Amino acid sequence: MTQSPIFQERANQIHRKGDNQPFELACNKESLAGAVSQRACVFCGSRVVLYPIADALHLVHGPVGCAVYTWDIRGALSSGPELHRLSFSTDLQERDVIFGGEEKLTRALRELIDRHQPNAAFVYSTCIVGIIGDNLETICRRMSEEKGIPVIPVQSEGFKGNKRAGYNAACRAMFRLVGTGDTSDISPHSINILGDFNLAGEIWIIRKYFERMGVQVVANITGDGRVSDLARAHGAALNVVQCSGATLDLAKMMKEDYGIPIERVSYFGVEDMAEALYRVANFFDDDPTILQRAKELVREELSILYPQLQELRKDLNGKKAAIYVGGAFKAFSLVKAFRLLGMDVVMVGSQTGTTEDYKELHEITDEGTIIVDDSNPLELSAFLTEKNVDIFVGGVKERPIAYKLGIGFCDHNHERKEALEGFVGMLNFAKEVHRTVTSPVWRFVPRNISPATLEE
Ligand code: SF4
Repeated sequence: MTQSPIFQERANQIHRKGDNQPFELACNKESLAGAVSQRACVFCGSRVVLYPIADALHLVHGPVGCAVYTWDIRGALSSGPELHRLSFSTDLQERDVIFGGEEKLTRALRELIDRHQPNAAFVYSTCIVGIIGDNLETICRRMSEEKGIPVIPVQSEGFKGNKRAGYNAACRAMFRLVGTGDTSDISPHSINILGDFNLAGEIWIIRKYFERMGVQVVANITGDGRVSDLARAHGAALNVVQCSGATLDLAKMMKEDYGIPIERVSYFGVEDMAEALYRVANFFDDDPTILQRAKELVREELSILYPQLQELRKDLNGKKAAIYVGGAFKAFSLVKAFRLLGMDVVMVGSQTGTTEDYKELHEITDEGTIIVDDSNPLELSAFLTEKNVDIFVGGVKERPIAYKLGIGFCDHNHERKEALEGFVGMLNFAKEVHRTVTSPVWRFVPRNISPATLEE
């Protein structure tokens, strides 16, 4: 067995289940300097969350390099306006660092708002803005008064924490909009969908499920998002929150100020998708027809899905999978989804998991599984090789690691173009895993060719 190279300072962020040690995993701390974390910065965390609000202007106040994180990397779809697909930056230069970038920001906002007529503008603060101390709050307030739309600063200086702090900055920015719209036509059986980014149109699948149950969806926060929906989101009876970190802070703020309860769910995999629908139905227990419709929906969808999954399972039984994703909540669903396909999860990790998240991961994984927090390419490569995995599931930064090692890869994050949520998404996922794992190409990669053959 290959021993994995682990930085000593990171040893307590890695756990091998079954080593007879009590489970304790350090997490939610600063990344180790020099370890090239897979994690993104604070600014990136805030951008991930706010970006899919499609009728808002998104202006990155900083060097143009920060703004390179564009729609192409996270393809949140919109059913209407597509202003979010344009990437704007104030492109701060040395001169601005010396004299300040406030004037440049004012000019940029004025020009962009006049040209694009957005319903709101988000202004993201980057590292350099935090250092030179531009006063975003004042500029945004002035611009709001001048243009008559909400212009909202996002205090997301890249250096001031990790990606999770960016989620919080985004939630605080969105909360400024909540409570400003009309709620008079909202049904008592209504929800907001939080923490879904409408990659490959997934939120449209989920919305349809809830609507089939007779539940009104007030706002998608943030996939296919609209400023006006956010403004009246406080009128919904329930916040249904997906993902462990991204929008939970907003839900907590809405609970505190408006008394809206929270249900945490996942839409990935059969079990979690059905559980999400039942939880919402049970919340509205004053109308038993909602639960009735939820049951019919699940029965209908499973009767289509199961026979096809059984077929794919025949080839996948006993194959090995590794998972490394942004939020640990997604990892829970993936572990269950692989189990449904008869596969073994041998490594699982996340960028931003909490103590509770990792405890749950420990409970649902098999003996021998490696559980890791805030990993880096070196460790991930070693774990994948050591466990001899058949497929690695991750995001844009994990793809090259898998391919360089000659391992199958499935994108479960920003770049995917196929819907993986809902019952139909489980089938898409199973088909993709099957196509990848059974591809004949893996016979020709170095890890599967004997050294003697390679020398020939
Ligand atoms: S770390 Fe700072 S400089 Fe780098 S992308 Fe994030 S905000 Fe920009």
